[in-house]
Amino acid sequence: MAREAGFDLAGLAPFAPPHRADEFRRWLALGRHGDMDYLAEFGPRITDPPAHLPWGRSVLVVGLGHSRPPVSTTDGARIARYAAGRDYHNVVGKRLKLLARDLRREGLLREFKKVVDAGPLMERAHAARAGLGFESKAANLLHPRFGPWFFLGELVLDVELEPTEAVPAGSCGTCTACIDACPTGAIVAPGEVDARACISYLTIEQKGPNDRELRAAAGDWLFGCDVCSEVCPWGQRAPDLAERFGTHAAVAELDVLDWLRAPEKLETDVAGSPLQRAGVDGLLRNAIQFVGRRPRDEAGPMLAHLLTTAAAPLVRDAAAWALARAHGADAKARTALERRREQEPVEWVRRGVEVELERLER
Ligand code: SF4
Ligand code: SF4
Repeated sequence: MAREAGFDLAGLAPFAPPHRADEFRRWLALGRHGDMDYLAEFGPRITDPPAHLPWGRSVLVVGLGHSRPPVSTTDGARIARYAAGRDYHNVVGKRLKLLARDLRREGLLREFKKVVDAGPLMERAHAARAGLGFESKAANLLHPRFGPWFFLGELVLDVELEPTEAVPAGSCGTCTACIDACPTGAIVAPGEVDARACISYLTIEQKGPNDRELRAAAGDWLFGCDVCSEVCPWGQRAPDLAERFGTHAAVAELDVLDWLRAPEKLETDVAGSPLQRAGVDGLLRNAIQFVGRRPRDEAGPMLAHLLTTAAAPLVRDAAAWALARAHGADAKARTALERRREQEPVEWVRRGVEVELERLER
């Protein structure tokens, strides 16, 4: 029935605390979730879901492949492949709803809870238990056909169903390609990512300013990062499913300078795309930092304008960093930074401008 609802993979697991509950508690205690306070807040539910949903008996985990070729803007900024098309939350969520309706019609459940990505469930652990793949050193789930390129979704069911006999699907073995390739060293141990250093966190989840050193290390990434998935030998032969989610208009034909030129259009442009998760200010910060790493002459005046006029401190801070880094040799850029140092009302932004000017003077 899950296949009929449009999913590629499906399996059943008992609705029980995930086997990684202690690891997750330790990860939280170490602060490796960064600013994602919702993870700490959801912690008790994630580590002991039956205490939160006492009627739950089984969890039906589904997978939907999204493998596709790399995605770049016209000026070479990279967007994580999963985020290039329609918002998968809607796609997976709608299919799960239809599946639940069919299961209910067949008398296979009364109560259910649907989870896609943001719900309080350790999806990867339950999915591994349901036989959808194996947990990797890159802290994701690998499947022999799709590698790391598939979405997960869950239905918590109020009926006790025979768990899927977990199929031993493979292992990382001696491979360490993802750990070696991670641009920021965010995979701190096999299977453990320190979100605070991960480019996906920095460009999507972090609502405040990125660490200055890490801004420089994000390479061409504008939204998310696929490096650990791209180097993984699993999934190298995954099917091209680009048609499945399409390419959102906000991504097709995008030049990052379009966002700098008309930031007021951004919110409408990204509606219905996974990109909206980063928020307008977050996307603008990412775009500004990208042009700081990949300088273009025409970006200089735009950065100076944003440095002076942007309402969000986050954007002014990123503009100061990018202007100093990419156009620091230009007298006009120096003047704009010096003026901002005099006029900036927000202390942490002013301090950032000072740091950049001090660096230019060295
Ligand atoms: S997504 Fe990128 S930054 Fe994050 S762990 Fe993977 S390679 Fe490292
Ligand atoms: S790159 Fe190698 S170590 Fe990393 S997840 Fe893939 S198989 Fe495992």
